[in-house]
Amino acid sequence: MDAKNLTGIKILIVEDDLSSRLYLNKIMEKTGAVLLNAGDGLQAIEISRQNPDIALILMDIQLPLMDGYTSAKKIREFRDKIVIIAQTAYGLSGDMENILASGFDDYLIKPIYSWQLIEKISAFLP
Ligand SMILES: [Mg+2]
Repeated sequence: MDAKNLTGIKILIVEDDLSSRLYLNKIMEKTGAVLLNAGDGLQAIEISRQNPDIALILMDIQLPLMDGYTSAKKIREFRDKIVIIAQTAYGLSGDMENILASGFDDYLIKPIYSWQLIEKISAFLP
């Protein structure tokens, strides 16, 4: 599948694991999107405040300082239209319910494959 053209669209990648973050950036670079990065839940909120033009956030759940559930809820308080997709290692139904109750639009279960990521993100963007 060809990478969708997301040139100029701002996406925030929130991931504390460096190799995972590099992997996600490498996949998303092919789309032409403008990529911002955060390594914890508090930084995710700060970057979201500073960049009101972010279209989509790819949010890890297990993060230092503040977890992805809390961070997503707080970002949602001032950015009601932003798309927030969770990325989680857990496949339990309770976690999925928690994810959707925390204001996420959707989720991806790790390991995340490139086609999956592109397909999921593209579905939410024009
Ligand atoms: Mg993590």
